[in-house]
Amino acid sequence: MTLTEKLLARASGKARVEPGENVWVKTDVLLTHDVCGPGTIGVFKREFGADAKVWDPRKIVIIPDHYIFTADSLSNRNVDILREFVREQGIPYFYDVIDDPQGSWRFDASQGQLRRQYGSRYAGVCHTALPEKGHARPGEILFGTDSHTCMAGAFGLFATGIGNTDAGFILGTGKLLIKVPETMRFWLEGTLAPGVMAKDVILHLIGEIGFDGATYRAMQYEGPGAVALGMDDRMTITNMAIEAGGKNGVFPADATTFAYVDQRTRANGTKQDYEPVELDAEQKFVFDRVFDLSKLEPTVACHPDPGNRKLAKELGHIGLDRAYIGSCTGGKTSDFVAFARVVQGRKVKIDTFGVPATPQVVAELRAQQIGGESVWNIIEQAGVQLTENASCAACLGGPQDTFGRLNTPMKCISATNRNFPGRMGSKQSEVFLASPYTVAASALTGRITDPREFLPS
Ligand code: SF4
Repeated sequence: MTLTEKLLARASGKARVEPGENVWVKTDVLLTHDVCGPGTIGVFKREFGADAKVWDPRKIVIIPDHYIFTADSLSNRNVDILREFVREQGIPYFYDVIDDPQGSWRFDASQGQLRRQYGSRYAGVCHTALPEKGHARPGEILFGTDSHTCMAGAFGLFATGIGNTDAGFILGTGKLLIKVPETMRFWLEGTLAPGVMAKDVILHLIGEIGFDGATYRAMQYEGPGAVALGMDDRMTITNMAIEAGGKNGVFPADATTFAYVDQRTRANGTKQDYEPVELDAEQKFVFDRVFDLSKLEPTVACHPDPGNRKLAKELGHIGLDRAYIGSCTGGKTSDFVAFARVVQGRKVKIDTFGVPATPQVVAELRAQQIGGESVWNIIEQAGVQLTENASCAACLGGPQDTFGRLNTPMKCISATNRNFPGRMGSKQSEVFLASPYTVAASALTGRITDPREFLPS
């Protein structure tokens, strides 16, 4: 069996499963956030009763992250609905924006967007926060009310996005009926050349198969090139499985995975035991191809979809109005460090916004230094508007006052993961997806730029 088949077989109590088979699986973690949480709670209460109790409070993780730093009162209210539900159900893993469990959340626009406006438990973007806080463990089943839940597959688990109705059902029962997907294997060899990042890998792969090329399929990564990737890189790759229509993305768990997971579960007091699944000698794939990472170049997904692949060096004629670095895909510490290496000692030419994915990323950017200067200062000194208010921000547009939102038609290069029309705000805007290196180089020139022009060869 493939990794996904093994994970689903175990969670459904079967010796083996076949692609296309429908199986009831037990949930290890259910994730929800401020956008879908209130709707999920509504479904749960409607179907199971106003006084119903969730199946297991310790397996529910609630992370407000989407529409947080906005004066939009309905968005603020969504966070309050989550808090009331957590209180009622005794859910321990709620990463609230404020510290007062009886309080209510109001964003204070008069303080501006740049300086921190959250309490001590706030965790930032759910998919980045989930592993940081020790909730992504090898061998488990993780459902989340968000399409990029597939990112957690980097840790050798089955992770996929579901709708509010399914999530409401899980709240009541802890189970879900799942059709076992076919698996596509991407065998990675070689090492990335200077100036090329994991984001270029996934943009290349989606360009190969198309933005619907993995529809309802598992995308499994193996080979020496996969083993050599760090956890941040693996997360970038599995995050975008859904941009090819994939049901899930998955890497086999290995020593790199265990080191990351054990450190996070210990530091956060989350569940420390887990049982990884091993690769079988016999696996059946619906697609099986080798990719040489050393051949890849800085890659861009052009407007209007993540499969519209070009090389950065071919796009120098495209002028830009904005650059953006942030999100679950492109807002990790390693993403900002790469960005800083390009902009250090230089000034951006266009409006450039930076949104760290989590408060921990903010802390790491302040602590980590390049050439005696903190990464945070390097980016600020380059003229980037860098906020401490870690969140999804303009990755998905959001209310009009969202930091970095494309409120007028413009061309934006972005380290995020999705570029369908209107994704970051104005429907007339054009969004170009790229690596943090390419976003940084393009911010410096005001046109799409191959970052190797600014990096030592
Ligand atoms: S950062 Fe963007 S892609 Fe990630 S969860 Fe938030 S809105 Fe979704």
